[in-house]
Amino acid sequence: MLQFKNYARPDTVEEAYELVRKGRMNRIMGGGVWLRLQDRRISTVIDLSSCGLDKIEETEDAFVIGSMVTLRQLECHQAFNDATCHVFERAVRDIVGTQMRNLATVGGSVFGRFGFSDVLTALLALDTEVELVGAGTVSLATFAQMGYERDVLAHVIVHKHDYRASFQVVRRSATDFPVLNVCAAEWDGWHVAVGARPTRARLVEGAALGLPATFTAEELAAACERLAQLPFSGNMRGSERYRRHLARELGRRAICQTAGLEPPSPDPVAPAPRTVCAHTLETPDQASEGGDPACS
Ligand SMILES: Cc1cc2nc3c(=O)[nH]c(=O)nc-3n(C[C@H](O)[C@H](O)[C@H](O)COP(=O)(O)OP(=O)(O)OC[C@H]3O[C@@H](n4cnc5c(N)ncnc54)[C@H](O)[C@@H]3O)c2cc1C
Repeated sequence: MLQFKNYARPDTVEEAYELVRKGRMNRIMGGGVWLRLQDRRISTVIDLSSCGLDKIEETEDAFVIGSMVTLRQLECHQAFNDATCHVFERAVRDIVGTQMRNLATVGGSVFGRFGFSDVLTALLALDTEVELVGAGTVSLATFAQMGYERDVLAHVIVHKHDYRASFQVVRRSATDFPVLNVCAAEWDGWHVAVGARPTRARLVEGAALGLPATFTAEELAAACERLAQLPFSGNMRGSERYRRHLARELGRRAICQTAGLEPPSPDPVAPAPRTVCAHTLETPDQASEGGDPACS
């Protein structure tokens, strides 16, 4: 069971940072959704909900996302999703359910750098930075490789570009953790993030990916092969070999869909088309009587 000795609710991120640095066993709480699953004793838990970090601000060249913004808030933010080809929306829609996404925060998801994270993979392929109170502003790609320091993540900044992007994932069942996820984005060249390897997502770009803006079938195959050569391992959701295969195939799909060479994958969670029973539409009288019982 998770136990807190003290509870603090500072008004600023600077106060929160001081508190977290004060004790080795002090921890920040975002939505608390992941934290609450742990069996540990926390000396002081620091709740950021009074620090004014629950807003998404759109500036001329970026979206500045407070760390306490929930996954659901960002998933429903029209301007952000339109500007980023809906990759975030695609990435989070299968995370358990709406109630949970109303609690889980962007800060907790990014700071956690969970190996399975769909959030990290989606944001990694975009031009994203994180603003930490102690360590300052660093690119998400750098942050994803860093160790866990006692710091406070204040904002996630997604810079605007003329993005073309696609998010692909395989889950064994809807709402399960991903077996593997890939996000490809084209802005100043190609950027492809591969996550749930099952360790932390990795970004492959530039010479490491070797994919020109317009590419031949051979160049695409070589780039996908490079994705498949990342370190992978097996766990209960999939073997190393299966993940390698998925990295190659999901990478290919993500790049082709981004480049407009393939139509978007069918939406697995789109509401099924409603079947309308012809009998119920026959006459207004029948409709007011409740229609044909055969159709009920
Ligand atoms: C059952 C379940 C299934 C899930 N499935 C998926 C999935 O399929 N895909 C996916 O991407 N995610 C998944 N998640 C993870 C989820 O989306 C969130 O990432 C997770 O709950 C963390 O967010 P939180 O706000 O609850 O963070 P918390 O639990 O509050 O915190 C998580 C960690 O981050 C630290 N922290 C939080 N905020 C900050 C901050 N601002 N600064 C510094 N440190 C901070 C905390 O100290 C803690 O160590 C799942 C979670 C659960 C519980």
